[in-house]
Amino acid sequence: MARQKVVGEGIDPSEQKKPRGKRTRAADAPEAAPVLDPLPDPTEDAPLNKLRPTSFDEYVGQQAVLASLKIAVQAAKSRDEAVDHVLFNGPPGLGKTTLAHIISKEFGSKLTQTSGPTLERPLDMVGLLSNLEKGEVLFIDEIHRIPRAVEEYMYSAMEDFKVDFVTGKGTYSRTLTYRLQQFTLIGATTRAGMLSGPLRDRFGLTYHLDFYSPEELSRVVKRSAGILDVQIDQVGSDEIARRSRGTPRIANRLLRRVRDYAQVTADGVITGGIAAEALTSEGVDELGLDRLDRLYLTTLADQYGGGPAGLNAIAATVNEDSQTLEDVVEPFLLKIGLIIRTPAGRKTTQSGMDHSGVPSLINPGSHQASLL
Ligand code: ADP
Repeated sequence: MARQKVVGEGIDPSEQKKPRGKRTRAADAPEAAPVLDPLPDPTEDAPLNKLRPTSFDEYVGQQAVLASLKIAVQAAKSRDEAVDHVLFNGPPGLGKTTLAHIISKEFGSKLTQTSGPTLERPLDMVGLLSNLEKGEVLFIDEIHRIPRAVEEYMYSAMEDFKVDFVTGKGTYSRTLTYRLQQFTLIGATTRAGMLSGPLRDRFGLTYHLDFYSPEELSRVVKRSAGILDVQIDQVGSDEIARRSRGTPRIANRLLRRVRDYAQVTADGVITGGIAAEALTSEGVDELGLDRLDRLYLTTLADQYGGGPAGLNAIAATVNEDSQTLEDVVEPFLLKIGLIIRTPAGRKTTQSGMDHSGVPSLINPGSHQASLL
């Protein structure tokens, strides 16, 4: 079973205490190709998104996570109890929300969806919890952004299915206890490291979702092409998969772009050549990096001599929100080995130097040599 990994390990501690910023690209940042943004697009990720798998069988990849969840759901059903609370951790677009919906569907219960930043007051949380029927799922996206005052009410709600509310002050204070039905809390986060220990400990099941392999993404692309009634050959779906940054949401988005390109410039059939042409024209390179990824890489390689450099310094130089860089840009660059995180800051690897096109200081001439 994939287990939770603490995001933020090996980061300069001064950088870990950042304000909980927004997760959108800065408005005045250089225009990045939105096609590779793993954050949700409301037009594509509406609740009725027809590409979203609705059962364990339709869900591609993450085999170990699925196997464990299937057992948990089946066991809860046979005991006539709610499924244990579940925490999903991993970069955006990897299928956390999808899994929450699948769990509630497979369990045969209703799902109520909310997100951390919208739960501003304890009463918001108590209102939601007291409306849940037995076995229902409360899905909280960006659970690391719940205010601490609200979070404290969740401890007894999750553990004992009750909420204690204190009214009045001093000698006049009284504690009111609300009994709750047995429910399942499913939390999703891109930052497990920002969850408090007491909250994290109350999840019985914790999973880290990792990036998908190109083969898995190729299956996602073919499945989506079938639903969208688009003709695509194996090389075409492999090409889209290879450039999708290990992320199903991006694979689906690229498929839509390539479908448009194939319709306008060819006979509508997606081949490897059409996919490569379309994606290159969208600014997506062979590794699946977009303009912001490349800007990050060349800034670190060129202006910081390959690093080490602090995240905030890089963010200021590229004029981008540091949280976006940490949540969206860096995980994939780390995954494919173009950068590393050290206690002193971010550094490019030799492959990162080569891919940035900036001559390496570590091994002068290596870039030129690779061009010859
Ligand atoms: P997250 O909550 O992690 O940001 P989502 O669950 O919203 O990601 O997934 C984004 C989109 O990617 C979904 O709407 C779905 O179409 C697609 N998707 C995600 N995971 C899978 C998967 N395992 N198989 C097929 N499609 C997937």
